[in-house]
Amino acid sequence: MSTIGFIGLGNMGGPMARNLLKAGHKVTVFDLSADAVAGLKEAGASVAASAGDAASGVEIVVTMLPAGRHVAAVYGGDEGVIARAGSGTLLIDSSTIDVATARSVAALAADKGLAMVDAPVSGGVGGAEAGTLTFMVGGEKDAFVRAQPILENMGKNVFHAGGAGNGQAAKICNNMLLGISMIGTAEAFNLADKLGLDAQTFFDISSTASGQCWSMTSYCPAEGPVPTSPANNDYKPGFAAGMMLKDLRLAQEAAAQSKAPTPLGNEAASLYGLMEAAGKDGLDFSGIIKMLRGDL
Ligand code: NAD
Repeated sequence: MSTIGFIGLGNMGGPMARNLLKAGHKVTVFDLSADAVAGLKEAGASVAASAGDAASGVEIVVTMLPAGRHVAAVYGGDEGVIARAGSGTLLIDSSTIDVATARSVAALAADKGLAMVDAPVSGGVGGAEAGTLTFMVGGEKDAFVRAQPILENMGKNVFHAGGAGNGQAAKICNNMLLGISMIGTAEAFNLADKLGLDAQTFFDISSTASGQCWSMTSYCPAEGPVPTSPANNDYKPGFAAGMMLKDLRLAQEAAAQSKAPTPLGNEAASLYGLMEAAGKDGLDFSGIIKMLRGDL
């Protein structure tokens, strides 16, 4: 059993904190939303009056916040997590944020002698609820080893990706590839349809030929071939196009900073940006096929 401060109790953080309670940890929570806090209090958590209070006197701090600026604000400053955490406290940020902020916050923590890992997740709200998330962890090996059993209470796969920021790097590189492959898959199914080749027949051929990929076989953007895919549920997410766009934009920021050419990643961000402009970013990201069909 560990004492844990948990900050950020939204769609993901709420169920993750519940899983830590279920695993028998003593959890103290903080969120700006009173409703989010009330739900966790009912589940057995103690409530802190601020992020700094949640971080003081605990062995481990976990944060699950929207973006880099929230993470920098919560960890930094005189009353922030880094200032208020006791020596020996392990800091785990599971938010999906830009690599540069992840590295600068980890450096601030290191200046104070605190171990920190970035540990973004894939698996979505369903994975957070079921405790089956995948964690991609960046940070020193010792910190990873300490974080691992806690992360295993919230997830099924926990990978060490290297030094500070490498968890975020793994997450955005994976999701950039996923965004690109989904657009390619959607283009192929749309062209097949225009050429009079039905989705199931094209799926049967391509899923056993060289066009095969996860976007096709597990998450097919055309209605029919994969019964569990959002295409068969009015493109309800799943993984919303807006969240894909967030990750594609983070990848573009990182690509610019590291001077890595990512022309297809750039194009993918532009195309999901059009879904956002059309007010359709709440659809699943496989709904990009509707845009190609002219249905948005
Ligand atoms: P969310 O908006 O539902 O929750 C964020 C929570 O943080 C909110 O409850 C908000 O009140 C709280 N918050 C914001 N600023 C705060 C502050 N200064 N102090 C305390 N609390 C603060 O977001 P979410 O869907 O839970 O996502 C959290 C992170 O997980 C994001 O970085 C997101 O990209 C990532 N993520 C989300 C999903 C998903 O499917 N939702 C999947 C993978 C990763």
